[in-house]
Amino acid sequence: MPTVTIDGCKVTVKKDETILDAARKAGIWIPTLCYHPAVPSDASCRLCMVELDRGDWRQLVTSCNYPVRRDIVVYVSSERAEAARRGVMELLLARAPESGELKALAERMGVYETRYPNVTESQRNCILCGLCVSVCEQIIGKAAIGFAGRGVDRAVAAPFRQPSEDCIGCGACAAICPVGTIKIRIHADEQEVEISPFKSRAKLLVCEQCGALVASKQVSEQALTRSNLNSEEFRASLRLCPKCRRLQTAGQLGAATFYKK
Ligand code: SF4
Repeated sequence: MPTVTIDGCKVTVKKDETILDAARKAGIWIPTLCYHPAVPSDASCRLCMVELDRGDWRQLVTSCNYPVRRDIVVYVSSERAEAARRGVMELLLARAPESGELKALAERMGVYETRYPNVTESQRNCILCGLCVSVCEQIIGKAAIGFAGRGVDRAVAAPFRQPSEDCIGCGACAAICPVGTIKIRIHADEQEVEISPFKSRAKLLVCEQCGALVASKQVSEQALTRSNLNSEEFRASLRLCPKCRRLQTAGQLGAATFYKK
């Protein structure tokens, strides 16, 4: 198994684990934004750059997608690596100046302001990391959002920048967004969930026991399809809110509710 020497600390990794994996094993912090173990990394944010020792020269590489295949030496805390990461963070701050999550990460890196002008209003607070696009397509299987436009107009949007009929309102894109830009809004009066800023909406189910709003119908159907638990018992449990489901499991709701069609 190859050994990675990070800032003088040696750690062994499995072949094809990344420099980031090695750093985490060694307890060395490297800032990340677009990295998430649920989806393949394309290192789009560039925040995890480190210096790789090539013998007589050193190269900046992104640690989240650099596979380790032989013994290597890397530097996380070198002056050049830290300056590169701080420069990237300044660019990201110009894209998402209102993100509390991003500001907190920037402060941890010692970056308190940006030299760059803020991006246009239409792109504001999106760092174009693409995690939402990946999770929607690769985990949820919907592709309800994607990249649109080019250059300074590039943005994540639903097709034709209109509310998407493919969106099931699962909220996975909001959960994975590292800068808190994608939001789940509940419209209780209309019994709908809206995914902002895409303006896509999905109808919510109402708990058959207490009337609370549950997940959208499509999310329930997806849970049935993927779980392979297509029994009436499981179907009935999906018509209950989490609280009533727990009561049902504990046997504190009547059987009639559980098996109601
Ligand atoms: S809420 Fe809609 S856009 Fe977001 S991941 Fe789910 S299906 Fe995709």
